[in-house]
Amino acid sequence: MNPFSEKKSILDSVNSLLRPMRKPAAGGEDKIYKCKGCGNKYTKAILRENHFVCPSCGHYGKLSARTRITTVADRKSFREFSRSMIGKNPLKFPGYEEKIRDAEKATGLKEAVITGTCTIDGEKAVICVMDSRFLMASMGTAVGEKITRACEYATKKKLPIVVFCASGGARMQEGILSLMQMAKTSAAFGKHGEAGLLFISVLTNPTTGGVTASFAGLGDVILAEPGALIGFAGPRVIEQTIGEKLPEGFQSSEFQLEHGFVDAIVKRENMKETIGKIINLHRKAKDY
Ligand SMILES: [Zn+2]
Repeated sequence: MNPFSEKKSILDSVNSLLRPMRKPAAGGEDKIYKCKGCGNKYTKAILRENHFVCPSCGHYGKLSARTRITTVADRKSFREFSRSMIGKNPLKFPGYEEKIRDAEKATGLKEAVITGTCTIDGEKAVICVMDSRFLMASMGTAVGEKITRACEYATKKKLPIVVFCASGGARMQEGILSLMQMAKTSAAFGKHGEAGLLFISVLTNPTTGGVTASFAGLGDVILAEPGALIGFAGPRVIEQTIGEKLPEGFQSSEFQLEHGFVDAIVKRENMKETIGKIINLHRKAKDY
């Protein structure tokens, strides 16, 4: 008998004994996900251990806002602001309310951003995390208002603010009111900066449109996750406008780092430590 096949059959019998004894994992941890980068399949538990980065090809999977908070905030330190704030349909855009309801059901969120306070490696901060699963984290009045209030709170309490950006841009269904959020949020971050406080903007995949053109681009320090799409208009629109072919890797984190828009690309596993260090350095420099 082939020793390898014998080994395998012993392993199989051990596994068959173990399987019924294994407790079912909580929260769908056994659910299988297929990597969009290489097509390999992993359980949620394995992906979670790896910060939802594919163990084979390094593809960055989407993180829900709540999961993102668990990867950055110290355990049990997060306190949420304006949890029940919801968007309305100010322009009576057809079908908009249904779209919001569907997004609520799919994500368990009331809007496309979660805001609050937490500590990051022991450093107190205000944090805003956008969730691209909610209408592409487009910025309507509720998103703009939540981010503005969080920033105003940070200014009042003299705290640094960290914003994890992800957005398809302004929310089309709210028209001009959505565009006004760009000025409103930018003004709030302007005041925060004038008070000598630190704003760290973290660009995740994708950060585009009116969000890039407002607060996402205003960070004192701008970090990005590897391979994220960062830009204003999509490449096809730009190519059609300027009538030229765009260079390879245009609008990726790496391209934006090379061209000075991004200060550093930080891997997900190092994000918490990096943000904690930057806040710590800034706080100590201010204390002198
Ligand atoms: Zn992969």
